Amino acid sequence: MLNIVIFGAPGSGKGTQSARIVEKYGLNHISTGDVLRAEIKNGTPLGTTAKGYIDNGQLIPDALMIDILASVFDSFKDSKGVIFDGFPRTIAQADALKAMLKERGQEVSVMLDLEVPEDELMTRLIKRGQESGRADDNEDTIKKRLVVYHSQTAPLIDWYKQDGTYCHINGLGSMDGIFSEICQAIDRL
Ligand code: AMP
Repeated sequence: MLNIVIFGAPGSGKGTQSARIVEKYGLNHISTGDVLRAEIKNGTPLGTTAKGYIDNGQLIPDALMIDILASVFDSFKDSKGVIFDGFPRTIAQADALKAMLKERGQEVSVMLDLEVPEDELMTRLIKRGQESGRADDNEDTIKKRLVVYHSQTAPLIDWYKQDGTYCHINGLGSMDGIFSEICQAIDRL
């Protein structure tokens, strides 16, 4: 099974590139952000809890995210592989993902780090907010999410380097060019 972590700051193109990877390689896709937005839309208790954090640019507590992730992962049957989009976002989540996969005889095959300069992230997210109306894509919340990214999520770069699964991808350029770099990394596995 291919287990791919797609990693990067908000606005780095994880969702866009995940959709193309899913299409080309026939993988299942777990986007924790999409899962939470669906819960909010359906007005569930989890959605109500999540909304408070999301609107404030903060991360949902690890224990809650880890349970959600395991249950979505286990819902896939006879999967060729999974792309983890937006998870892990903390060291505790990376540890939990490793343990969860190990219990199931699996491991992360590669972590693809989509690197995009900060000013470009800001421009992309503001544009996305105007086009999609995503509530957390406004300037104040974007700034908070980028602070959270640097303090809680970016340390995962070293974590995955130590794990031996880290792969840098230049996230700046055409969507096709970035996708082709990603495909080369996957095809090397
Ligand atoms: P995303 O769509 O991946 O940008 O996620 C949107 C928001 O959902 C984030 O800003 C967090 O508030 C929350 N979220 C998504 N994934 C996670 C995660 N793995 N851990 C904690 N919070 C998350």
